[in-house]
Amino acid sequence: MRRPDTIEHMYLDFDGFFASVEQQIDSRLRGRPVGVIPYVGGTRAILIACSREAKARGVKNIMPVDEAKSICPDLILVPQKPEMYRRAHNALVAEIHAVIPIDTVKSIDELACRLGADDIADPYTLAQRIKRAIRYGIGASITCSMGFAANRHLAKIACAVGKPDGCTVWRPQDMPGPLIRIPLEDVPGVGRRMAQRLAIAGVETTEGLLRLAPKEARALWRNVSGERLWYALHGYAIEAPPSQRGMFGHMRVLPPEGRTLPAARDIARLLAVKAARRMRREGYTSSLLMLHASLKDGWWGRERVMRQVQDDAAVLQSLLLLWSELQTTAGKSRQIFRVGVTLGALTPAGERQLDLLDDDDDDRQRWERLGRAIDGANAKFGRTLVSVGPWDPPKGGNVGGKISFTRIPSAEDFA
Ligand SMILES: [Mg+2]
Repeated sequence: MRRPDTIEHMYLDFDGFFASVEQQIDSRLRGRPVGVIPYVGGTRAILIACSREAKARGVKNIMPVDEAKSICPDLILVPQKPEMYRRAHNALVAEIHAVIPIDTVKSIDELACRLGADDIADPYTLAQRIKRAIRYGIGASITCSMGFAANRHLAKIACAVGKPDGCTVWRPQDMPGPLIRIPLEDVPGVGRRMAQRLAIAGVETTEGLLRLAPKEARALWRNVSGERLWYALHGYAIEAPPSQRGMFGHMRVLPPEGRTLPAARDIARLLAVKAARRMRREGYTSSLLMLHASLKDGWWGRERVMRQVQDDAAVLQSLLLLWSELQTTAGKSRQIFRVGVTLGALTPAGERQLDLLDDDDDDRQRWERLGRAIDGANAKFGRTLVSVGPWDPPKGGNVGGKISFTRIPSAEDFA
């Protein structure tokens, strides 16, 4: 395996993205502690993002609102606006792309680039040009941090070190010095749970992890991802599995008797479950659900940001929220001719950033285990025997098997 002798990758992560977009669109929020909460409160309201001013006061992402308010009584709570964040994301990506080609968009607030010769020689100038493009092209409230390293994984860790508004360069000759200062559980790919497992095996620091043999890392992880992580941390040019997939989606034209809202909703559920099943099979998680429909008076589409999920329960929950919006719109026309569901913003399942937005790791893993059991049972019997919620395929079968999306929908599709 190749071990580069210079930096080759840049990783960029926006600082407190949702909160900074809120501050950009509403000047009254600038310079003040802001917490973003889910639109639908649910039983326990939790901050899904907070501004740097809030962070400076000790408020954290994933913190219950009550706790955040007790630490920071003047915290301003704003409900999340996923479509706004998506639009900001697109505008920012366009600005950055004008400076350097983007290799991969990793999530709504993270992306990675390969470096050209000039950037390798002088990464700080590149960082400055990007920061300037964002400042003058979009606005000064939105800032980002960048990390430069031999591979993308190290660049991501370097990026986190410099937050907020940072630029961290880890050249191979400087390694592993800055890396071993990172707490083991903060290393992406380790996480709290894995750190506990490693501690039992006597590995309690990042330095300890680096000292293992690659095969030992593999054994501890019980799969190849441990070995991959080992090579990444040692600065090898290890690439993530090629992510050819842009999205998983299904669309269906509804039969005349199936054009009512309740009938269309059942179909949308089936399409979502089918798409999620295919996504699991190919080993991805999604952080964006899109629902689209043809109504009497035209095309309708909305999207919703999710938390890098792959289980039916999470996908169906987001679908339900989008459906209630569709229901409001379609209430007048009362007929749906076509419905489509798409899972986008894909990440290889092993690279999910647990605990980033929502402390739902245990729940997610429980649902995911259930999902694997369901997929296993259905694969064994060659048809859908088990599902989360009702499964009532329409006549003719082939739910979503006919048309799949192979392109990223443009803004026009959602107008
Ligand atoms: Mg971020």
